Amino acid sequence: MGRRKKGEVGRGREHGSGRVLGSRRASWGWQHPLGLEDQHKHRLRVDPVPHDAPKPPGYTRFVCVSDTHSRTDPIQMPYGDVLIHAGDFTELGLPSEVKKFNEWLGSLPYEYKIVIAGNHELTFDQEFMADLIKQDFYYFPSVSKLKPENYENVQSLLTNCIYLQDSEVTVRGFRVYGSPWQPWFYGWGFNLPRGQALLEKWNLIPEGVDILITHGPPLGFLDWVPKKMQRVGCVELLNTVQRRVQPRLHVFGHIHEGYGVMADGTTTYVNASVCTVNYQPVNPPIVIDLPTPRNS
Ligand SMILES: [Zn+2]
Ligand SMILES: [Zn+2]
Repeated sequence: MGRRKKGEVGRGREHGSGRVLGSRRASWGWQHPLGLEDQHKHRLRVDPVPHDAPKPPGYTRFVCVSDTHSRTDPIQMPYGDVLIHAGDFTELGLPSEVKKFNEWLGSLPYEYKIVIAGNHELTFDQEFMADLIKQDFYYFPSVSKLKPENYENVQSLLTNCIYLQDSEVTVRGFRVYGSPWQPWFYGWGFNLPRGQALLEKWNLIPEGVDILITHGPPLGFLDWVPKKMQRVGCVELLNTVQRRVQPRLHVFGHIHEGYGVMADGTTTYVNASVCTVNYQPVNPPIVIDLPTPRNS
């Protein structure tokens, strides 16, 4: 599919609250080495597409959720073609939770359902589990008690979706890549130190990906934690998204406080956290329409 030119306005934000600024740099010449002055100038809050808005002809409708944390019952799922779940579908990755989530997926009518893991899917992180069994971390007692044969093939319980873990799939002509890693967060699953370790994971994302799904946000986009008065997104992910991969859509969650949609003129960013910071599943799924590639 043809790549959009930098600064071109994508379909998703025609429903939004205003125009997207161009990509003009500061006239006084200095550029932040991490591109921060760029994105501070151009990022923009966007209103999500109303669930009852008709889908334009020739478009694919993505329904984005994340951080459902085994609380799917009250969620009103809107019409769409492709479901994206950006991780934290359980509380602890217990096989019983994964089975329940898979049943919920099976009840949904979408043509494709794409899922990644988050830091709460402890059993999906094989290295984490190997350590947990040895050390018996006191704050994960119910997971420490699992026998290896109970979680070795936990991914295979997800029969009603496409599960991505540092991997890619093409649906309806869109190249979609998913990755569960995030900056270290109290020793949960798929944690890595900031800097090189995370960058090495982001370097696996191929150029030409249209839709990127990660569990955590990039720095500066829907990553504000009011309690800490801090942005907690990953700067290496920001660089990867804005400077190298430039996907049309980046879906993530993890920071429940950051639910919403933003855009920078190239990429639409969705923090799809269904659960609030208090684990109330009240944020509606976020709908994004993208033009379906002609050759699909
Ligand atoms: Zn979460
Ligand atoms: Zn998380």
